[in-house]
Amino acid sequence: MPLVRDRDGKRLHVKSKLMGESLVGKTFNKNLESRVQFRSFPEVNVLKVGGQSITDMGAKGLLPVIKEIVENSNQHKMIISTGGGTRSRHIYAIAMELGMPTGIISTLGQSVSEQNALIISTLLSPYGGIKIGHDDMPKLAGYFNQGCIPVMHGMPPYGYWEHPPKEGSLPPNRTDVGAYLLAEVIGAKRCIFVKDEDGLYTDNPKKNSDVKLIPKIGAQELIDMDLEDLIVERAILDLLLCSRSVTEIQIINGLKQGNITKALNGEHVGTIIYKDID
Ligand code: ADP
Ligand code: MG
Repeated sequence: MPLVRDRDGKRLHVKSKLMGESLVGKTFNKNLESRVQFRSFPEVNVLKVGGQSITDMGAKGLLPVIKEIVENSNQHKMIISTGGGTRSRHIYAIAMELGMPTGIISTLGQSVSEQNALIISTLLSPYGGIKIGHDDMPKLAGYFNQGCIPVMHGMPPYGYWEHPPKEGSLPPNRTDVGAYLLAEVIGAKRCIFVKDEDGLYTDNPKKNSDVKLIPKIGAQELIDMDLEDLIVERAILDLLLCSRSVTEIQIINGLKQGNITKALNGEHVGTIIYKDID
């Protein structure tokens, strides 16, 4: 690549379309064109097994989910992402009482979702379950070629660098976000959240009985509705609006047998939240 000097002759640049730019210019960024995003694993489904909603129920909730994952593993490639759940909430509560910064709280949450990844990968080991770390992402092709079911902990690796939220001190990017971003970076086929309710309702059905199921809704529309409570982390909605590959998520009730199979087969069970603006 040719080298060129600044107009004042001070700086030496390598010629490229980003040359000399601050990379934060509004018009510059708007006009930047890049190729359609490459998808490494367009056949792979990311399945997030909820921490509080599934794993914390113990054998009753988790074993039927494991069974359904195994039954589908010949027809569908899957990577399992794990939530934290009740133990995360316990450590978050202690950490908040002690005034811990968000980055510390996030780091504490990582180890809990990792515990659940260890449990789930152990239960899946007779069927090819393998616990992998975030750094193993480039090895995924090898695992899939050998018929493995990779299990990764869901907490995204912001850790100490987690962004402080506008209100409170809870990490805004937790395991739902981690599962979604995993799906987006590998260009997955689907991102399915296995939880304990039939989908997204107009309010938390565990606190309010006067609720309606929302089978399908746009992310921006949902942001605008400004609901009191949601079944997924709010940060996912903003991320969906910026998605390139995985432009929708599906939330299903994993306590009802057959739902995982239906979702993997592309059936509309539960709630689909999709990117509704370009
Ligand atoms: P996970 O363990 O999978 O992360 P969570 O317990 O964090 O699951 O979130 C799922 C829970 O969200 C449901 O069990 C439900 O009680 C609650 N919830 C809050 N708001 C809603 C809503 N609008 N619709 C459905 N569920 C909701
Ligand atoms: Mg949750």
